[in-house]
Amino acid sequence: MEGLQPGFDPERARQFKHWTAGGRGFSFSPGAAGARTRGGGAGSFSDILNEMFGGFGARGHGVPGADLEYPLRIGLLDAIRGTEAAITIAQPGPCPVCSGAGHAGGRRCARCEGSGTVEERVRLTVKIPPGVDTGSRVRVAGKGGRGEFGGPPGDLYIAVTVSPHPLLERRGRDLYLDVPITVGEAVRGATITVPTPDGKVQLKIPAGSQSGNRLRLRGRGVADPKTRARGDLFVRLLVQVPTDGAERVREAVDALERAYRGDPRRNLRF
Ligand SMILES: [Zn+2]
Repeated sequence: MEGLQPGFDPERARQFKHWTAGGRGFSFSPGAAGARTRGGGAGSFSDILNEMFGGFGARGHGVPGADLEYPLRIGLLDAIRGTEAAITIAQPGPCPVCSGAGHAGGRRCARCEGSGTVEERVRLTVKIPPGVDTGSRVRVAGKGGRGEFGGPPGDLYIAVTVSPHPLLERRGRDLYLDVPITVGEAVRGATITVPTPDGKVQLKIPAGSQSGNRLRLRGRGVADPKTRARGDLFVRLLVQVPTDGAERVREAVDALERAYRGDPRRNLRF
């Protein structure tokens, strides 16, 4: 509780109000504080602050620092896997020269130019847990503004925006991936290699798979940041036909045509 002076200083009171505004846990309002003044009545501003300062001193609370928010954009894979980000924040706190008063020795403080507040540039590596989405706020405890009169620091909140991925589509906890396969793989069935956020996996394609069929890879989706439960990865098979018009390809296609049983559009009626 260094810097806590016994006398009442109106400038300090201004600072006090400044630092409680936007802080967490409690807020300063003369009415609320007045209610706690002994003997009834609202009491003077200095009575209120003296009591409150005394109260903080006794309980060792001080004035907590402000919460900060830092916007961070990450890619979808980093959001799925979790990542670390090196960031530099401007951390506000009471001026170390004037202890937040804005003046020292009867003069305006040169360091903070009378504001009582200075910002420190702080480099941090923050952990982003797996499963965050656009709009997620990741709390970094104690990395907000510095407290005053021995008060605790505020918290830092990382406001996450997730960039879309060119191949992977996210819908909530599930992921969707289009996977091209050959006509032969579709007809005969095959085991193919598919990329997932956890690395490559082997995926068995049933014989007779149609273009547009979906296969589910359970638990290869996005984790819920709280429960850690993971969604699924849905693979959509897209049958690619050869674009080669060579004679042997045309012969093979002729043979393939004879394998269709009837018109594939026979049920396509409104
Ligand atoms: Zn200062």
